[in-house]
Amino acid sequence: MSDWLTEGLPHIWLPYTQMATAATPLAAVATQGARIRLADGRELIDGISSWWTACHGYNHPHIRAAVEQQLATLPHVMFAGLVHEPALRLAQRLTALLPGDLERVFFTESGSVAVEVALKMAIQYWRNKGQGEKKRIVYFRHAYHGDTFATMALCDPDEGMHTLFAGTMPDQLMAELPTDESLRRAFDLLLDTHGERLAAVIIEPLAQGAGGMKMHSTQTLAFIVESCRQHDVLLIADEIMTGFGRSGRMFACEEAEVVPDIICLSKALTGGTLPLAATVTRRHVFEAFLSDDPSAALMHGPTYMANPLACAAANASLDLFEREPRLAQVAAIEAQLMAELAPCAELAGVADVRIKGAIGAVELSGAIDLQHTRRRFAELGVWVRPFGNVVYLMPPFVITADDLATLTAAVRQVLTERAALL
Ligand SMILES: *Cc1c(COP(=O)(O)O)cnc(C)c1O
Repeated sequence: MSDWLTEGLPHIWLPYTQMATAATPLAAVATQGARIRLADGRELIDGISSWWTACHGYNHPHIRAAVEQQLATLPHVMFAGLVHEPALRLAQRLTALLPGDLERVFFTESGSVAVEVALKMAIQYWRNKGQGEKKRIVYFRHAYHGDTFATMALCDPDEGMHTLFAGTMPDQLMAELPTDESLRRAFDLLLDTHGERLAAVIIEPLAQGAGGMKMHSTQTLAFIVESCRQHDVLLIADEIMTGFGRSGRMFACEEAEVVPDIICLSKALTGGTLPLAATVTRRHVFEAFLSDDPSAALMHGPTYMANPLACAAANASLDLFEREPRLAQVAAIEAQLMAELAPCAELAGVADVRIKGAIGAVELSGAIDLQHTRRRFAELGVWVRPFGNVVYLMPPFVITADDLATLTAAVRQVLTERAALL
């Protein structure tokens, strides 16, 4: 093992990891395209795009050049009183891409904080309109909206990984996704009953991520949006996972032809290179903050807000969506996942296979031995990290058909091995 590994490991605390029993993490030394190279010389095909970020693959020369140039001219300045070209261009481009009048952008550095800002906006929106009692939030079963205190309160209480903090978080309302007639009535009833105290409903449109990789139809999403309008409740779309092509369209909301009041973006925003997030609002949300009263202003401002390096990376990432056939690549990945991953449904111990865009999820009927399964994937030359009872693939959009076939074959093999033991 290299010096940096043996000397540094005793000082590192890893995420979502029982450090007493954790396997030694793999040492990554270089990346290229869809590959991660390890210190021992092995190369893994990345099946999950580094937590769903690296949509253009790793080390794209266009993003590198943009960040290098920005680093040489203006790596960072504070974003209060000062503005700069990368952020303003990015804001203008993002709002041009987003549907409807989603036209004001607030930049932060992580997805959780983008959701926190959306919550503050929603609550203060009603306060500014003289309806300060509207401050509770509705979220859905299987939701995941982040790891900070306000966002933990919006994660599935059983699968959201935060149960031990119950009682310390704001008490929000969980709803079932209204996927049939009776659930639709129940959802309407929930908004009827609590509407006067509700600021917003928050949803991961069409595909829920870290809370279980569940998917729902455009009709379900459209129903939720309509119900929110009728009950005077804001709709926050958390497209941190689905945004930038992952679910098949540039944004999942586009597919359902809905315009949320607030949308949160992060993960693939910089193509997996630098931390950046954006909370974007419709005009009427922004206008509720315009007033002679200084306390009506939005009270938030992260130190590294709108970091120019990250904004330059995001602009370069948007260039790539314009110049390279990303959405066609997503469609090809979807077709290949349908052909090669869907057959896992026949295996013993598999409850369901769900595919949407460049997301392929296999849900198992029982628990998985995560440590063993993760090690098996690495042995097979792929980087795949199941969580809960879900094995999933979310590869970089630029992955070759051969590499994707290696990924799907590895999933089939590992699940076949597991089925043999059941
Ligand atoms: C990852 C994720 C978040 C949290 O983003 P972080 O950058 O990890 O804070 C929030 N919502 C969704 C849907 C996500 O996938």
